[in-house]
Amino acid sequence: MNENLPPCPECSSAFTYEMGALLVCPECGHEWSAATRSADDSGDSGDSGDSGEKVIKDSVGNVLTDGDTVTVVKALKVKGSPSGIKAGTKVRNIRLVDGVDGHDIDCKVDGFGPMQLKSSVVKKA
Ligand SMILES: [Zn+2]
Repeated sequence: MNENLPPCPECSSAFTYEMGALLVCPECGHEWSAATRSADDSGDSGDSGDSGEKVIKDSVGNVLTDGDTVTVVKALKVKGSPSGIKAGTKVRNIRLVDGVDGHDIDCKVDGFGPMQLKSSVVKKA
């Protein structure tokens, strides 16, 4: 039936078969869950479909999450602003997005309004 069923963990029999969500060994009668390592098995861990979740890290490797406060680590030019964003500017309540050009943080910068930043120019505060 199925390719690549693992051997029985109890007696190493290769004649295992699937019964619902379980694997069954006909030789010793052992039953166990097959859910652990099959890559095509979607939806047994709670999230529906979205298994390849992307981790976004700041300039020094901290993992960022929605709602974090970060500090801009280098001066950034902003269109229409003579000064731009200064290094050290705090940005509160960021939102991680799948932005274009590596702009993976959606946020609102005081004095500048909503914009998108690259995670590589911020550091978790
Ligand atoms: Zn067995």
